[in-house]
Amino acid sequence: MMDAPLQVARILEHGSTVHGTAEVVTWTGAEPRRMSYAEVGRTAARLAHALRDELGVTGDERVATFMWNNAEHLVAYFAVPSMGAVLHTLNIRLFPDQVTYIANHAQDRVVIVDSTLIPLLAKAIGQMTTLRHVVVVGGGDPAALLAATGDRVAVHRWDDLLAGRPDRYDWPAVDERDAAALCYTSGTTGNPKGVAYSHRSIYLHSLQICMPEGFGLGPTDRELAIVPMFHAMSWGLPYAAFLSGAALIMPDRFLQAAPIAEMIATERPTLAGAVPTIWNDLLAHLDSHDVDTSSLKEAIVGGSACPPALMHAFSERHGIEVVHAWGMTEMSPLGSVSRPPAGATGDDAWRYRYTQGRVPAGVQARIVGPLGEPLPADGTSVGELEVRGPWVTATYVGDDIPDEEKFRDGWLRTGDVGTLSPDGFITLTDRAKDVIKSGGEWISSVELENALMAHPDVVEACVVGVPDERWGERPLATVVLREGAEVGVEQLREFLAGTIARWQLPERWAVIDAVPKTSVGKFDKKVVRSRYADGGLAVRELTAP
Ligand code: AMP
Repeated sequence: MMDAPLQVARILEHGSTVHGTAEVVTWTGAEPRRMSYAEVGRTAARLAHALRDELGVTGDERVATFMWNNAEHLVAYFAVPSMGAVLHTLNIRLFPDQVTYIANHAQDRVVIVDSTLIPLLAKAIGQMTTLRHVVVVGGGDPAALLAATGDRVAVHRWDDLLAGRPDRYDWPAVDERDAAALCYTSGTTGNPKGVAYSHRSIYLHSLQICMPEGFGLGPTDRELAIVPMFHAMSWGLPYAAFLSGAALIMPDRFLQAAPIAEMIATERPTLAGAVPTIWNDLLAHLDSHDVDTSSLKEAIVGGSACPPALMHAFSERHGIEVVHAWGMTEMSPLGSVSRPPAGATGDDAWRYRYTQGRVPAGVQARIVGPLGEPLPADGTSVGELEVRGPWVTATYVGDDIPDEEKFRDGWLRTGDVGTLSPDGFITLTDRAKDVIKSGGEWISSVELENALMAHPDVVEACVVGVPDERWGERPLATVVLREGAEVGVEQLREFLAGTIARWQLPERWAVIDAVPKTSVGKFDKKVVRSRYADGGLAVRELTAP
């Protein structure tokens, strides 16, 4: 067989020619902007020429983005890796000093920024020591960037920089194992760690995303990519779109439920991907407004555990099937997708759908005990999940030897705890650090949260372990109630008693306005624990039932 390298440039060439009439739609709050994939190809060539000829980007230098999901970000996704440089997607929701740390660690040379994000970037850019150029997309005033950097950094406008440049580029042959893109983890402890995706890993991962056991994409699909392009490469949706010919709908900065609902009604996506928080907000909106969601067949939910109540609500009230998926930045990110096996129907099918899903051939999974000993894949043995495969990172950027807390004998230690069934379905019960260790027994915080969120008056529930003199740790339940709800925490505890063993029921309860979230929209349990420790929560302690 021929040894054709698996390159991002090949995905671009394919999408921009064979699927050249497919479109990327960018939401603007007024008339959406439309760009064909053929035009994305031409603009990517112009950007690559500008980066090379004008800004002097060579070799595997890093070109960062500080952007929403939009057509220009898509252009950068293709241009930068295709020319042999490395795309670095900066997370716009991190604290400025974290953004600075990451940009310096990655040695970013250029950053492309949406003009609506100039004020945010201005807070971080002053200390970015390797940065030489900023490219501003849109018409905003870059004065704040210049003020923060002086003449160390040159500021360019996207339109001016690209104007008049050739719309073809002779994409170089690269080693398929070379880095194409870089993303830092959004870990809540310690400094973020870099994961470098190779051309090969992106290609293989994108194929899997398109497969029926992945997201099942084809040219008649329209993907609403809500999951940010700075979070785990938007789950691979942009590259998969170019491989499959599926159209892309990009929300830009319009991430609230009302505009998302409007995008669904007018742009008619067939599939959408987002974290549970977004879906939760959208559900409340759909329940109280008349929105045409008939095009949307599947909503992919991942990033944190999807409460079964959310899946049922979408399916039964809006005809949208929520598909649960699991993954990590370290895994490109796809780890598993929950599609019931042949023959499963009714409640049996639902039980499969609640799980984190089945691993594809590209991901090998195993469960290990506390000493790293492999446990049986029998669907009941509980331990830490470890994975390996061609789109799983082997180490973090800059580490000479793989960090042994995260890697073991060629496997990635996910830090997720759960079971693996003989037919490859993963069921997670918790993050290792969030499991509540009560009197030598484990309580799953996720199980308590899911059970609480099944109550009609509970919008969100976040459960953490807190120190307890007698048991070591006990669960603290923090709940956000629906507006106007009058349910008391005693009633919530009684409700839980219907499905949860009595000894696991929380004694400590706090009703809160909102669950604190991380930069990528997950429950920030570290903040909840520290608010509790600082006495910042109004906690009610119920006596034992
Ligand atoms: P990130 O690298 O930010 O995508 O975070 C990866 C982590 O998110 C995983 O290790 C899990 O702890 C969590 N996660 C992702 N998807 C799910 C899911 N479907 N259910 C439970 N946890 C999830």
